[in-house]
Amino acid sequence: MKMLVIPEKRVSVSETVDVIVAGGGPAGLGAAVSAARTGASVLLLEKRGFLGGNITAAFVETCNWFLHNTKFSAQGLYREIESAYRKEYGSSHDVRENAPHRFSSEYLKIFLDEFIAQEHIRVLFHSFVNDVVIHNNHIDGVIIQTKKGPMAVSGTVIIDATGDGDLAAAAGVPYRQGRDTDGYCQPGTLNFRIAGVDVQTLAGEGDLLKKIGKQFEQDYLAGKTGLACKRKDLPFGRLTQAGILSYINYPCEYMIDPTSNIGLTQGETACRRYIKEMYRYMKAHFPGFERIEIAAIAPEIGFRDSRRMQGKYVLTHEDIEARKTFDDVICLFPRMYDMLAPDGNMRGDGALEGGGYKGHIFVHIKPEDTRTFEVPYRCLLPESVDNLLVAGRCISTTHVAESSIRAIYACMLTGQAAGTAAGFAARDSCTPEEVSIGKLQESLKKQGVL
Ligand SMILES: Cc1cc2nc3c(=O)[nH]c(=O)nc-3n(C[C@H](O)[C@H](O)[C@H](O)COP(=O)(O)OP(=O)(O)OC[C@H]3O[C@@H](n4cnc5c(N)ncnc54)[C@H](O)[C@@H]3O)c2cc1C
Repeated sequence: MKMLVIPEKRVSVSETVDVIVAGGGPAGLGAAVSAARTGASVLLLEKRGFLGGNITAAFVETCNWFLHNTKFSAQGLYREIESAYRKEYGSSHDVRENAPHRFSSEYLKIFLDEFIAQEHIRVLFHSFVNDVVIHNNHIDGVIIQTKKGPMAVSGTVIIDATGDGDLAAAAGVPYRQGRDTDGYCQPGTLNFRIAGVDVQTLAGEGDLLKKIGKQFEQDYLAGKTGLACKRKDLPFGRLTQAGILSYINYPCEYMIDPTSNIGLTQGETACRRYIKEMYRYMKAHFPGFERIEIAAIAPEIGFRDSRRMQGKYVLTHEDIEARKTFDDVICLFPRMYDMLAPDGNMRGDGALEGGGYKGHIFVHIKPEDTRTFEVPYRCLLPESVDNLLVAGRCISTTHVAESSIRAIYACMLTGQAAGTAAGFAARDSCTPEEVSIGKLQESLKKQGVL
């Protein structure tokens, strides 16, 4: 193979702050806001032109449907954001009564710009980060890839909330990706939105959309649909008076690498093909869909998991099942798992045990459930870098445990813990590992974190 050497470049450091957060998704938002609230100066770097991560970029608007009709409700910053959003945008035009709350990804983009500005967080969009300058296990600078070429910024503490652990991987932190048997992650999904549904028909008596989804699943499993995409279930998003179905969570491409542009290209093009097929199928088969058109395709294919950075502790599903307690617990989360079969095996056993998991693992929270599990702070502390924390879906867990911790609300909780710890470390001139666990826990409790 032909090899090239990239020549060395000198880059001036354009900004120095207390805390740099890479990634403006649920975890990055939690991290940036919590760090800023400790009094730290915060720079939030986001590769896209808007905040929200998968909620806005992959149309994952129904964040907390799994808490709906359970004994749990979201706490901490998530609760604060949702209630401030609801004051302005209500139920995002959803006409279905008793539906779980759904954001509009478009309103949320605007909302988050304003919310973050009030927190005095400096945001830089179009700032892709996958390089660092590191000496003696300490990150001296973070390199942002811009149209003008590389740009350097420095921070006392750095938080990787990129979802994929791009920054931590660049800093040499070891990681695992996908399931142990073959490295496959959950599929990539390119959600889409349709306009022109017959609202009267769909919003009438009973939950017709749910029935349509169930019927589709049966037809798929019976081999009747003739569609190429292996996904069997068909969740829908908001149904609005304007005839919008805000997302169809369906087009999935399996066995692709979320960190490879080759895998991503395959995923985007295959999913667009599945969208075309599904659009035609819905128009032909579903009542109330006769006049639909495709209104939008999500800006980018979305992933539920990719790199899981090696931390000082690796949370396992056995820990979750045993309700293991930790002295350095930073949040509790309801026990649930949602792992779309990495190989698209829709007829597998879907069992939690065994690690081979042939099939969708779906353990939902039953109405009477009160079971929670603990996340230790050490899952946020990478093994080898002393001024780095990770937050969100890339924290240190096994693949099955990640299918629980990947929930948006959980990602924001780990973000809150990382941001608070980073703020304390910057203020007290210590490393994140040296932060007092007692003070961190006390602060998180004051923030409403369960
Ligand atoms: C189709 C789909 C459906 C889902 N459904 C649900 C659901 O119903 N409920 C639920 O709770 N969860 C759901 N999830 C999972 C959930 O969306 C994610 O686990 C969660 O958003 C992870 O949050 P995060 O902040 O860790 O990462 P992300 O949401 O991925 O955010 C990462 C952010 O970092 C930015 N970024 C990435 N790389 C870089 C870089 N190198 N430099 C700078 N910025 C970067 C991204 O643009 C993004 O804004 C779903 C996911 C998908 C894809």
